[in-house]
Amino acid sequence: MSKSTVTLPSGKEMPLVGFGLWKVPKETAAYTVYNAIKSGYRLFDGAYDYQNEKEAGEGIRRAIADGLVTREEIFITTKLWNNYHRRGHVLEMARRQNESWGLGYIDLFLMHFPCALKYIDPAIRQYPAWWMDDAGTVQTDKVPIRETWEAMEEVVDNGIARSIGVSNFQAQSIYDILTYARHPLSSLQIEHHPYLVQSELVKVAQENRIAVTAYSSFGPQSFVELPAQFSAKAKDIQLLFDTECVRVIAKKYNVTPAQVLLRWATQRNVAVIPKSNNQARLAENLDILGFDMTSEEIGSISALDKGLRFNDPGYYLPNHQIRIFA
Ligand code: NAP
Repeated sequence: MSKSTVTLPSGKEMPLVGFGLWKVPKETAAYTVYNAIKSGYRLFDGAYDYQNEKEAGEGIRRAIADGLVTREEIFITTKLWNNYHRRGHVLEMARRQNESWGLGYIDLFLMHFPCALKYIDPAIRQYPAWWMDDAGTVQTDKVPIRETWEAMEEVVDNGIARSIGVSNFQAQSIYDILTYARHPLSSLQIEHHPYLVQSELVKVAQENRIAVTAYSSFGPQSFVELPAQFSAKAKDIQLLFDTECVRVIAKKYNVTPAQVLLRWATQRNVAVIPKSNNQARLAENLDILGFDMTSEEIGSISALDKGLRFNDPGYYLPNHQIRIFA
């Protein structure tokens, strides 16, 4: 069995396989997280945007109270949403989110996107995601990444987060942060699956010892279930589970196509955070470190690359495209 954690530049260990909380309903999140811990999950990937941090924290606290795990064995990741990039707002949001989880500290705090939106008071906001009102307004703000990063470092100084990192960043802004970071850039979380391999970006991170985490490892599967503006790119594409090469490899190792997709990442030291609202699939997704594919097989999966990105605000925001991946 291969190593099940990666060492972050902060010195902390992060599990290589975790559980993603996007689209886990608030109503069932505590129960789902509790059962995920029972199945062996130790990392939970949340965000302000997912609106279930409090419930996820409840599930973890219940598992700790029942003696299933200790706080130290659990690793929680959460993310700073785009409306809170200004220096004072970063600390305020980190405190607020830390309180929601109710676990004393955040293991990893990520800047969710490399773009700032105008502030909305979290106490009165109605829409968790990009939209700021009923009309679907999205207003950017002029906040340099450096200001936000330095405020995130203060979140570490204040003992609220143990490690910090970024998500949805490209090489240029990573190189830039590395020139002034006082606390290490520990992790980069990106959309990463065989239709969007981004091998150069993964290299940039790994050459700089930044741990890469893949999100949406199953590619189109997570997006077909969304409203039209988000699913448009996904709905006519063959599911990765159904591609010939993934199916053949799955058969050879007697595993499922989902397990092949997750192993394709972890075998290259890229962490994964699959989400499932189904107990059997959730257990299946954790059981992926027990087989090793050949480098030819890994290469044949990577050859499915189409540069196809599903999570792109430059595409799905109709009134205000934010072309961060241009
Ligand atoms: P994902 O984990 O790639 O896919 C989830 C979809 O696959 C759901 O439809 C799920 O359905 C299905 N599924 C799960 N396990 C399966 C299996 N073994 N076989 C077949 N289908 C399976 O997608 P994701 O939720 O987009 O990404 C994972 C996590 O990454 C998120 O939850 C979130 O924590 C994080 N994320 C981060 C960002 C970011 O901007 N940083 C963006 C997107 C996601 P069921 O639930 O019915 O099983």
